[in-house]
Formats: sequence, structure tokens, C-alpha cells
Amino acid sequence: MNDVPLFAPTDEHKAVRAACRDLCRDKVAPHAADVDRNATFPEAAYDALRAADFHAPHIPETFGGVGADALATAIVIEEVARACASSSLIPAVNKLGTMPLLLAGSEELNKRYLTPVAAGEAMFSYCLSEPEAGSDAAAMRTRAVRDGDGWRLNGVKRWITNAGVSDYYTVFASTDPDRGARGISAFVVEKTDPGVTFGTPEKKLGIKGSPTCEVYLDDVRLPASRLVGVEGEGFKLALRTLDHTRVTIAAQAVGIAQGALDYAVGYVKERRQFGQAVADFQGVQFMLADMATKLEAARQLTYAAAARSERSDPDLTFFGAAAKCFASDMAMEVTTDAVQLLGGYGYVQDYPVERMMRDAKITQIYEGTNQIQRVVLARQVLK
Ligand SMILES: Cc1cc2nc3c(=O)[nH]c(=O)nc-3n(C[C@H](O)[C@H](O)[C@H](O)COP(=O)(O)OP(=O)(O)OC[C@H]3O[C@@H](n4cnc5c(N)ncnc54)[C@H](O)[C@@H]3O)c2cc1C
Repeated sequence: MNDVPLFAPTDEHKAVRAACRDLCRDKVAPHAADVDRNATFPEAAYDALRAADFHAPHIPETFGGVGADALATAIVIEEVARACASSSLIPAVNKLGTMPLLLAGSEELNKRYLTPVAAGEAMFSYCLSEPEAGSDAAAMRTRAVRDGDGWRLNGVKRWITNAGVSDYYTVFASTDPDRGARGISAFVVEKTDPGVTFGTPEKKLGIKGSPTCEVYLDDVRLPASRLVGVEGEGFKLALRTLDHTRVTIAAQAVGIAQGALDYAVGYVKERRQFGQAVADFQGVQFMLADMATKLEAARQLTYAAAARSERSDPDLTFFGAAAKCFASDMAMEVTTDAVQLLGGYGYVQDYPVERMMRDAKITQIYEGTNQIQRVVLARQVLK
């Protein structure tokens, strides 16, 4: 036997978790309830994450980032989500918005746009969905037509996370409608480009601190250099991006569930009924046992998917979808059980588990609903 560690996180990964957990306890968690109640962007959390380089940890050192690998990035998102799901969308959406550039952008484009994100001077959102094109994203109507040596974009993108607060947007638009999915291209759009405006933030069930808005593109003129990768390969790029970032949504789900389980465990040890701590009832213990087991299974699948993301393994499509689907279903179940374990107290805003249950729901919906994940998974199984 050699001494290669089997299935053990490295000391570096453990150190990232410890540092991020401490930071989130002190500087993210204290604002989570207010951010939710007032539906305000978590500025204090953003400042704290920036100061510690946790706001976009995946950006490579070449562009001034800290170059965290996919597992370290997942651990950061998990730890932030454990404290505040809205705040975890800062590192998660920075990765989602920039991933198309990292996969296919030119050196010049990447230097121009990734450097400010690494420095914490700008955030980056991802614009795929439209009012009439959600699960069927290739049915998008946003058009990009050639205009001299550049492009002119028109259309509406819907449900865009961090819209308005992000400075940069990867926008997918049809450059050749006759070619369907093969006629879609990706562009970088700036918030200040003439013709870009935003709708009013949606009033949501959860992740209320992360604004979700429509993005309107009205005759937005872009230079040729804003095309990401090759014309006509934008849809493939959108899907390749999601293969990687579904891992981060899985990590977000694991973090939300861990936050709820931790709170519930503390509560049942303190709460007394029938003359004893409710943690002493076997019915409660069995619930905790199931919650912890499912959570750990989701975490291990998420980390296995993160390793595949880091290596860009051929089975990443399966692992990304499986991790996102399994972890988000788990998070919904575990947070609902956490509410149950607090009884009536779980149902009110004085305790954090009702927020965690509301926040968990979105992980089953975005970056492809869990029905769509199962379509992706079945296709991989049957191919
Ligand atoms: C808070 C929030 C943030 C978001 N952030 C972003 C973002 O930053 N960028 C972005 O581009 N998008 C974003 N989205 C959009 C999100 O990815 C879509 O909402 C999602 O893909 C579903 O699309 P839809 O809402 O149009 O639902 P629909 O596609 O209309 O689906 C309706 C129902 O039909 C089911 N369904 C559809 N097709 C099938 C099928 N083939 N088989 C089985 N069932 C099916 C769905 O699972 C769902 O249950 C966000 C959404 C929300 C709510």
C-alpha cells in the first residue's frame, strides 16, 4: 500500500473551509436575516468576501485572482451559503458569468473583463433565460445582427441574478435564427453600454438579497471584440458552462442544508418537553440521522463532481447534473425537516430555518429545473 490519501480533502482545502467559516460567522451571518427581510443586496457580506478574496475565488492568478480550484470554490460557496444563501450568489454568479470567457474567451477579452472581477471591482452575471425561453433556452428570441465591424443586440433576458449590481453580463443571442441552437453566440455586455436597462427586482420566495431582474437590450451596439469564442457556438458554450456551475449550485444547496441542520441540532438539545430535551426522543434522533446521512451523501457527490469540473472530465455532464439534482432535493428535504424539528418556532421569522427552507427551493429551479437535470441524466445513462 502506498500513502496516497484516499478520499480526503487536502490541508489546503481544510484551511479554505476554516477561514471562510470564520469569516462568514463574523461578517456574513449577522446580516442574513436583514438582507432577507428587507430584500437588500448584502453589501457588508460583499465587502467582507472581497477583503478575504472569497468573492470570485475561481479566477486564475493570470488575471489577478487567487486561482482556487473547483473544489475550493465549491467549499467557499458552501460555507457562505451555510450562513446566507443570498450572499453565496456573489461567488457563485461571478463564476457563472465568467465561465464562458474562461472556457472560450480570447486572452485580450479575458484580461479586460476578468481582472476587475478578481480585484472585486465588478461582478459578472449570466443571461441565458428569456420570458418565452426557460427550459427550452435555445428558443431564445434575442437577436444579434452584424453592424459594420461589430454587432447590434435587441431582446429581453429574464430572471437574471444580480442584474443591476453586476457591471458585466454574458449575453446569449441568436446570430442566425435559421440554424436554431447552432446559430446562437455569446457576447460580453456592459451595464453602461447605451441601450442596456433593467426591470424592477422580482419579489421572490427566497434568496431575497440577490436581485433578480429582466435585462432589456435595445439596439445595443457592441464592437467585434465582445464576441466570446466562435460565432454559432454560444449554445454549446452555455451548456458547457452549466456543466461546471451546476456543481456550485450543488455546493450552495449543501451549505443551506448544513446551516439548517446545525441550527436544528442546537435547538433540539436545548428545547425541553415532557421533562427532557427533545433531542432525547428517538423519533427526533432518527430524523437527525437521516438528515445528516443525506447531507453527507450530497456533499460527497458534489465534491466528486467538483473534481471532475477541475479536470474537465468527459463525465462532468452527468456528475454536474447528478450533484445539482441530488443536493437540491436533499436541501429541500433537510430544511423542511429542520423547520419541523423546531415545531411552531420553525415557522416564524425569529428563527433562521424558515428562511433556509425558502432559500433552498431555488436550488431545485435555477441552472435548469430538476426535471431538466433528470432529462440530462437519462440522456447520459442511455447514450
Ligand atoms: C431566482 C431566479 C434566478 C435565476 N437566475 C438566472 C440567471 O442568472 N440567468 C439565467 O439565464 N436564468 C436564470 N434563471 C432562470 C431559470 O434558469 C429558469 O427559471 C429555469 O431554467 C426554468 O425556466 P422557466 O422558469 O421558464 O420554466 P419552464 O421552462 O416554463 O418550466 C415550467 C415547468 O415545466 C417543466 N418542464 C419544462 N420542460 C420540461 C421537459 N422537457 N421535461 C419535463 N419537465 C419540463 C419544468 O421543469 C417546470 O417544472 C433564474 C430563475 C430564478 C427564479
